[in-house]
Amino acid sequence: MTPAACPLPKRIEIVEVSPRDGLQNEPAAVSTQDKLALIDKLVAAGAKRIEATSFVDPRRVPQMADAEAVMSGLHQRHDGVSFSGLVLNARGAERAVAAGCHELTYVVVASETFSLRNQGRSVADTIAAWQRVAVVGKEAGRRCNVLVAAAFGCPFEGLVPREQVLAIVKAVAGMAPDEIGLADTIGAGTPGQVAEMFDGARAAVAGMVWRAHFHDTRNMGIANAHAALLSGVTVLDASAGGIGGCPFAPGATGNIASEDLVYLLDGLGIESGLKGPALARLAPWLEARLGHPTPGSLGKAGWFPAESDLMKP
Ligand code: ZN
Repeated sequence: MTPAACPLPKRIEIVEVSPRDGLQNEPAAVSTQDKLALIDKLVAAGAKRIEATSFVDPRRVPQMADAEAVMSGLHQRHDGVSFSGLVLNARGAERAVAAGCHELTYVVVASETFSLRNQGRSVADTIAAWQRVAVVGKEAGRRCNVLVAAAFGCPFEGLVPREQVLAIVKAVAGMAPDEIGLADTIGAGTPGQVAEMFDGARAAVAGMVWRAHFHDTRNMGIANAHAALLSGVTVLDASAGGIGGCPFAPGATGNIASEDLVYLLDGLGIESGLKGPALARLAPWLEARLGHPTPGSLGKAGWFPAESDLMKP
């Protein structure tokens, strides 16, 4: 049974993940300069939280080998914008802190097989390592977030039992993260499942800020985002143009497109601070840089009503 809906929030935060989750799966190398240009455009479109890069082994994720260069390129460039780095261990956390990340986002994978393939270690070991990451991040005064990956399905094990996800949520909550996100890494979830999962998470951990991260692999991304908004989620990840994938999840496509999400939010009267038309204009720029089409809809269809109409009284 689908749980009772929460009232829709008046305002939410969007974490723009295109520079990290979006670009890490691109087959061709993207220059540091192009990454910085993308981030500049995201800031111009109103993004206040941006996942700029990841501090992982460059042999495993070559697109993120320039993490330090990206961060040093951003220093003092954008006041009031919070830049996060994805980290998988304490060494990554130390690098992210040294590079000046305002936030650290740590990933725990919900299924054992995916955890072993993606992080190279068990779920229990990953939870243990989170404690060390949290110590590094908190001592440096940085926000520390946890994302539970493959929370709505695993490419190797299939459906992940809700109890398994909630046990991880409870375990990581012990080190008081600033927010906990549930991620549909392979884009397998459906809205009823999203509602049930966040309902269970809210019951398991009181007073937490809840975040959601959806891939649009099976065209459920925006419907899942809507379900998350009705389930107490106030932070949503999205990627300009809907770019992205997952190097360790066969068949996974991009995140929900930021411009499509803002269109939904505008229609619901929910503020995010992002300017949808500016984001929609970013899609063709991304396509020119990346050399392939992007999956988002608003970049192709254009904003509605058109911007010239928006100017009229
Ligand atoms: Zn992702």
